[in-house]
Amino acid sequence: MDILNRSILFGGKAIVSALDITETAQAARDIHGFSVAACRAFSKALTIAAFMSAGFKDLGNKLTVIIDGNGEGGKMVLAGREGAKVRGYMERPHCLDGKPDAAVSEVIGTEGTIAVIKDFGLKEPYNGYSRIVNGSIDMDFAYYFTQSEQLPSAIATGVKFDDRGALVAAGGVIVQPMPGCDDNVLVMLEDIVRDFADIDERIAKYTPQEIIEDRFGHFPKSDLEPVRPAYVCECSRERTGDAIRLLGRAQAEEIVGEFGKIEVGCDFCGKKYVFDGDDVEALFAKE
Ligand SMILES: [Zn+2]
Repeated sequence: MDILNRSILFGGKAIVSALDITETAQAARDIHGFSVAACRAFSKALTIAAFMSAGFKDLGNKLTVIIDGNGEGGKMVLAGREGAKVRGYMERPHCLDGKPDAAVSEVIGTEGTIAVIKDFGLKEPYNGYSRIVNGSIDMDFAYYFTQSEQLPSAIATGVKFDDRGALVAAGGVIVQPMPGCDDNVLVMLEDIVRDFADIDERIAKYTPQEIIEDRFGHFPKSDLEPVRPAYVCECSRERTGDAIRLLGRAQAEEIVGEFGKIEVGCDFCGKKYVFDGDDVEALFAKE
């Protein structure tokens, strides 16, 4: 079962998070049919999205991350809500199919933008932007957190496959400073995370808690309650109906007139919702 463990270090100077999102990443692959290369890049980004939404407290808080690079995979969209419940899709899920060892940057690209939208139910959502640094995901988001959220972060995400391309493990380690963190502590923690070059192997072998204990266990630390990441889609027939209502009656009826129905597919989970003429009438009869 997927898990995210977190520990506060040095009495509140920094926080380390370690995630195992293997089942979440497998659920995404089952839906989208990712190639190995696409699955690797997507699962690394999904790890970041799970981390970012794990801290959300309230129901209704929403995270959207859009990675728009010039790589083979095209645009990647990730979404999350409290408790690290995530979902996502990418433009070309089958990219680099014959190249399982392709670098993550081949999928993501080395130029482009990262946009992060955090909707806390306030008037204006929080919007953060930065550029893709090298398409490795880890460096790109370390840069994003530093530039856009003023949180110099150390990130190591990893994905492991077996010889036949089956997903074995996905997850990672992320360290962020807390208010009052001094540079010495930060540099030391960054050094530790830089040492996670073998993170792909490590997440396959150890639990997130073991990874934290192994590298951070000798520091003063207090563990937080674990969070359970999962792949959860929020689409429903009702929400799809709401979207059709937004089209307006005239346009909805025009589509039914031409195609005999309105068919709406969910990008996140692949579910299809079909509304025939009677269904559409019923939608607008409510008004
Ligand atoms: Zn869906």
